Amino acid sequence: MAFVTIPTELLPTDGRFGSGPARVRPEQSAALAAVGTTVLGTSHRQAPVKDLVARIQAGLADLFDAPEGYRVLLSNGGSTFFWDSATFHLIRQRSAHGQAGEFGSKFTGAARRAPWLSEPHVVEAEPGSAAVPTPVDGVDLYAWAQNETSTGVKAPVRRVEAPGALTVIDATSAAGGIEIDITQTDVYYFAGQKNFSADGGIWFALASPAAVERIEELASERWAPQSLDLAQVLVNSKAHQTLNTPAISTLVLFEEQLQWILGQGGLGWATTRTRTSSDLLYRWAESAEYASPFVADPELRSPVVVTLEFDANVPAAQLTSILRGNGIVDVEPYRKLGRNQLRVATFPSVDPADVEALISSIEYVVERL
Ligand SMILES: *Cc1c(COP(=O)(O)O)cnc(C)c1O
Repeated sequence: MAFVTIPTELLPTDGRFGSGPARVRPEQSAALAAVGTTVLGTSHRQAPVKDLVARIQAGLADLFDAPEGYRVLLSNGGSTFFWDSATFHLIRQRSAHGQAGEFGSKFTGAARRAPWLSEPHVVEAEPGSAAVPTPVDGVDLYAWAQNETSTGVKAPVRRVEAPGALTVIDATSAAGGIEIDITQTDVYYFAGQKNFSADGGIWFALASPAAVERIEELASERWAPQSLDLAQVLVNSKAHQTLNTPAISTLVLFEEQLQWILGQGGLGWATTRTRTSSDLLYRWAESAEYASPFVADPELRSPVVVTLEFDANVPAAQLTSILRGNGIVDVEPYRKLGRNQLRVATFPSVDPADVEALISSIEYVVERL
């Protein structure tokens, strides 16, 4: 395979386009260095770290315009641990899941493996489309992902009209980059390593009064390991704490990104920016002879994760390998999808000018393959 050297003037200033961990802005790294001898390496039970957590909680409530009564929760373990917690203290007996890709099916798997729950109800759609569950008798929790990171599909988020049931949204790669009406959700959960450009390892959630009530109800009657106990999370989050030691550096990176987004104008600004970046790619692919958007329905195309399908005569694996050699990294497709694709994250940290440079770089390489 011949290597192609992309001229420096065509290259993006930052070559990181991964869907998570996503590019960390230099200002975030600087913020980390700035507290390198004060907050880092100090007790998470004392004011400097507790205040940091409190600022994140207040900032998230502000960013998402959380109504009165919604609580901002956090706990160690990332979104995957949230799924396990939910099998104990959010799903009463039976959940329903929309799945059209890798991440939707993971929460289903956690619920299916929990022997105290009934077999989950599953609504499935082809990768590249969206699956949103509709009311089913006996289901007390409805779950789907707002952004399916494996395929680049953005699903609508509207409360399922089923009295007493909770609507629980996986916003791991959506929160902070896609618009949301939080009143349409009972739990809107995510982690730091996507739009917030922090590190992984901590999950955050906005929880409605109904969700808080459900947690308290189930925790009073169902045992859970302490590390997954959501009633403990309610208590600790209220005190700006976590059960055990959190990664303080993740919190610092997270807070820097949150304040940056808020300072620029909040979620409206962030979603305009991700839309601008992703539209550049979608429009380019629509006009390119050898590429097209993987997601056929423009309404479902994600503004934060763009999947581009390439014609067979342009081997994407060769393309991504050459791009990687030029410092443009993590545009490989989701491994289990197994298609001739590129997947590009356009989270708020990605400058639209870098997306234009990425397109020029792709064109330069493809012309020489
Ligand atoms: C990345 C991702 C996850 C997994 O998050 P972890 O914090 O690594 O557990 C879950 N759901 C979606 C939609 C994701 O994009």
